Amino acid sequence: INVAHPEFFQAADKMMTEVPLADWKTYLRWQLVTAAADALSSKFETENFNFFGKTLQGRKEQYPVWRRCVAATDGALGEALGQVYVARAFTPDSKARMQTMINNLIAAFRERVQTRDWMSDATRKEALAKLAAFQQKIGYPDKWIDYTALDMSRDSYVQNALRAGAFAVRRDLDKIGKPLDRQEWGMTPPTVNAYNNWLQNEIVFPAGILQAPFFNAEADDAINYGAIGAVIGHEITHGFDDQGAKFDLQGNLKNWWTEVDLKNFEARSDCVVKQFDAFEAEPGLNLKGKLVSGESIADLGGLQVAYQAYLKSLEGKPRPAAIDNFTPEQRFFLGWAQVWSAKYTPEAARRQTTDDTHPLSRFRVNGPLSNMPEFASAFQCKVGDPMVRAEKERCQVW
Ligand SMILES: [Zn+2]
Repeated sequence: INVAHPEFFQAADKMMTEVPLADWKTYLRWQLVTAAADALSSKFETENFNFFGKTLQGRKEQYPVWRRCVAATDGALGEALGQVYVARAFTPDSKARMQTMINNLIAAFRERVQTRDWMSDATRKEALAKLAAFQQKIGYPDKWIDYTALDMSRDSYVQNALRAGAFAVRRDLDKIGKPLDRQEWGMTPPTVNAYNNWLQNEIVFPAGILQAPFFNAEADDAINYGAIGAVIGHEITHGFDDQGAKFDLQGNLKNWWTEVDLKNFEARSDCVVKQFDAFEAEPGLNLKGKLVSGESIADLGGLQVAYQAYLKSLEGKPRPAAIDNFTPEQRFFLGWAQVWSAKYTPEAARRQTTDDTHPLSRFRVNGPLSNMPEFASAFQCKVGDPMVRAEKERCQVW
């Protein structure tokens, strides 16, 4: 038995006897109702939204029904929906372009590992071996989940939802005692996101992220390197962020660092922690540097490696012209900024700052870019300008 969070179970075990039985009954009843609320009649759904949507997120209204239905279908039958999605929205050309960018980004990251002066050759060798062992998944799984054992009917929506939940639990339990299935995906194809799974040393890009503003077939390379390119760099860097760096090339939790190199790496990670601790999200509420350090190390590394890969892709070619008066270098950074343009309610900003490992969008842009002299020179900023940190205050991990 592998218990990931023993403290939780110790505390819960104590509460089993200390909390009155009547309270447990109320709590468990509430858990059941809230979990099923979105599939129940509108009174339940509205009450659930009033708390999770309005109170916690400051949202004014529900998403339209069609959007909630698509999200529920993605949650329950993601790889069935995914087959329809990729047939309509994902082309072999998208996959090929993505593959080329991933190769270029990995090559650029390799160069950075080879040239970091704070790392010994012993650790460097391990880092390069880990990078070379990265598995890549693009678009959709080679083998789809078989849903034939899941009954769906037109009689009752909530029963369908409950059966889908039970199906997912049974699927997980069936894995016990069997060899790891490395073909499995942790996100569905329509998902607009990507991930690095340390336990399998893999980077995964669902088809859904290959659309604007992340990837725009109509835009030039500068924009796309700044957007999806930096996202690819972000996922690569996750394998070498403050947590990812603890896993080896096979996905084992195993230290491959020399003691001195690990100290250097931690000092560099701490620089990022301190910078983000200093950002104020909402009046009186600062970001938590430690909470967002992995994402912020990945953003910084991702942008630096994507910028390097973009410049390399231009070698031997004529310099791209300005578009709308923006230079190629400026367009790279605009690509990143467009990915994260967002507007938050104060409630949503507070919630994300309190419990999400991702910093608020504006800090995902201004944070890393203020550490990049490449950004300052692209926009002719000087030391002392708000988006420029003096050299000794800049962070650089990778
Ligand atoms: Zn991330």
